[in-house]
Amino acid sequence: MLKTRKIEARKKIALVAHDNKKKDLIEWAEYNKTVLSRHELFSTGTTGKLLEDQLDRPVTKMLSGPIGGDQQIGAMIAEGFIDMLIFFWDPMEAQPHDSDVKALLRVAIAWNCIVACDRATADFILTSPLMLDEYLVNIPDYSGYLKRKIEY
Ligand code: PGA
Repeated sequence: MLKTRKIEARKKIALVAHDNKKKDLIEWAEYNKTVLSRHELFSTGTTGKLLEDQLDRPVTKMLSGPIGGDQQIGAMIAEGFIDMLIFFWDPMEAQPHDSDVKALLRVAIAWNCIVACDRATADFILTSPLMLDEYLVNIPDYSGYLKRKIEY
């Protein structure tokens, strides 16, 4: 049977930006300040501090991305705590924590998390009527996969 998880109207949004993309994310957040004020914000350390200063509101901050923050956000997505990931990653520069970046993006897709990696997609998501409402997310069923592994 299909399992679902209810996303409340007040959504839990994780925001992460690589250094070359932080300016872009902060500008985007400022532009969308009113919409974002209806939701709860989570972030990696440095991005979160910049967001707090810009938006003048609290943001729940994890560790900085390269020292575990990406993994903390990934874990919250896997647990079904975070509803949405806005992740402005840098396509032009390798990161010391590229493995964590890949892991975060992978786990978000594995759990059918709403993800935007650029400003245009983030705009489309934020202006969706679904932002104002509850929404049922399908939780992918990995039971067959887990069972197969145990049977080895
Ligand atoms: P930061 O982490 O917000 O602490 O800079 C972002 C990242 O590089 O993952």
